[in-house]
Amino acid sequence: TGATAQRGHPRILALANQKGGVGKTTTAINLGTALAAIGERVLIVDLDPQGNASTGLGIDRRNRNCSTYDVLIGEAKLREAIIPTAVPRLHIAASTMDLSGLELELGTTRDRAFRLRDAIAELNVNVAPDTDYTYVLVDCPPSLNLITVNAMAASHAILVPLQCEFFALEGLSQLLQTVEQVRSTLNPTLSIHGIVLTMFDSRNNLSNQVVADVRQFMGNKVYNTMIPRNVRISEAPSYGKPVLVYDLKCVGSDAYLKLATEVIQRERELRSH
Ligand code: ADP
Ligand code: MG
Repeated sequence: TGATAQRGHPRILALANQKGGVGKTTTAINLGTALAAIGERVLIVDLDPQGNASTGLGIDRRNRNCSTYDVLIGEAKLREAIIPTAVPRLHIAASTMDLSGLELELGTTRDRAFRLRDAIAELNVNVAPDTDYTYVLVDCPPSLNLITVNAMAASHAILVPLQCEFFALEGLSQLLQTVEQVRSTLNPTLSIHGIVLTMFDSRNNLSNQVVADVRQFMGNKVYNTMIPRNVRISEAPSYGKPVLVYDLKCVGSDAYLKLATEVIQRERELRSH
């Protein structure tokens, strides 16, 4: 288990899309849970001031004394912000609303885009057994701001949740352009891990058309696994549970387990090249 990364060298993947409501947080929580369920050691870094990943994993706001804001502002170490969740092998660094002021507070500090990269690097020096992660999943806010740029600068690759709706492709080119900019300035090895189609409804012709368009436009970057629209997925966060804990047998849980397998498979392929 956990065989896809070297000790102290987690794979860092950012869940990014500047559109809100496309499934970034849902995918961070449930892909993270699925990876942990099959033996990976996972840290979710909540970089959205809304803190939905933290809430969805049952982390009470009162227990967020040390948050990703404190880490990025330089007032705490990442290891201090890490909280174990109810899921074995799944930890989270929680966020608070303070994070929305980060951009202004960092101003034009020289290292402002590298705050997350450096915090993760520091975590991996003298790595302790309980923080020896194989995957770090960064949940980005719905914006291409400094927080998302920090995530992209820190990551090996980005994973793009795309909702199966009419405007799905609109905005994707802007996102890809930002990735290109980050690659040419801050992080030359940043790649696109894949695009995951979310809230898919096979009975809906539009959903099917969007899938066809996205596959034509993005080719094999699109994961085979699609996440269906599933009421269990949307209910789970209000219980502070990942869908895999809330209802392991539902189609949503099944889809996220398949996605985790596919992500790991893709990692193996990347490694063998
Ligand atoms: P984002 O983080 O991109 O803003 P979320 O993951 O918070 O998006 O998802 C937006 C809303 O859609 C949430 O209420 C979530 O519960 C719901 N949702 C996400 N994925 C699904 C799905 N596959 N089926 C049903 N509801 C979903
Ligand atoms: Mg979100």
